[in-house]
Amino acid sequence: MNQTGYVGRFAPSPSGPLHMGSLVTALGSFLQAKVNNGKWLLRIDDIDPPRIQAGAIENIQSCLTAHGLIWDGDVFFQSQNAEHYERIISQLNSQKLLYPCECTRGKIKALGEFYKGTCREKTQVKSPYSLRLKNQFEISQIEDRRLGTLQVNSQATQEDFIVRRKDGLYAYHLASVADDIQMGITEIVRGEDLITATACQWALFKTLGRTPPECLHLPLVTFADGRKFSKQNHAPGLDLSKPVKNLTDALAYLNLTVPNSFQSNHQIDEVLSWAIHAWADSPSNIL
Ligand SMILES: [Zn+2]
Repeated sequence: MNQTGYVGRFAPSPSGPLHMGSLVTALGSFLQAKVNNGKWLLRIDDIDPPRIQAGAIENIQSCLTAHGLIWDGDVFFQSQNAEHYERIISQLNSQKLLYPCECTRGKIKALGEFYKGTCREKTQVKSPYSLRLKNQFEISQIEDRRLGTLQVNSQATQEDFIVRRKDGLYAYHLASVADDIQMGITEIVRGEDLITATACQWALFKTLGRTPPECLHLPLVTFADGRKFSKQNHAPGLDLSKPVKNLTDALAYLNLTVPNSFQSNHQIDEVLSWAIHAWADSPSNIL
């Protein structure tokens, strides 16, 4: 039942098995959807074939299921949505909001940390090129449901970011925004490491004449030395034989302490329904 029109999503990339950091994001977005009597959708961000690990898509789905995190409706796959992305590219192109850029990463880096629109007026390209957005928006702050008003690096968010890469693949911001619009997402729940990405994406929503969704950035899971839990940093995958322990640990990152009475691995549903009530009842903890 979707009484409120709330639609949330979890959108992992299938570059490896889920780790504790991804479980925290999945769980936080799940709880937020449940507390709002909304839908919780699963989208697989498989837009970048070289980064897809064999078996990861099945692994993500079985991992979520093992933790009682059951999504609503069919799974969305970015790899099946190229036509939609191309339509948005065409729309932006007809509005003269895109331009080709051949610059290499090395050249951009040599000119400074951010791309400064070097190729905006260029009309001819010889080598493989990416398409960049003529970014009309300088987002300097965003409203986060947990963290309040966040100042963001406007140099980063006013950058003319890439919407289609040199290799022809659609870029993350474009695919993510296009999908969020198509899926009717009302709130994006993701990790704090994506705050700048959120602000860039807000510029794209506005460029497309859309009001950006609400956002909620969750605390990050880190190693003892402060490095973020990520696939690149070789964060260990979750032990699927201990779902209640995993959920308890993930809830601790969300400032919720699960009562000791839940210990059996058959009590996934009990833990989740406890967590939904706790999330709703103690907004000062996380929200
Ligand atoms: Zn360029």
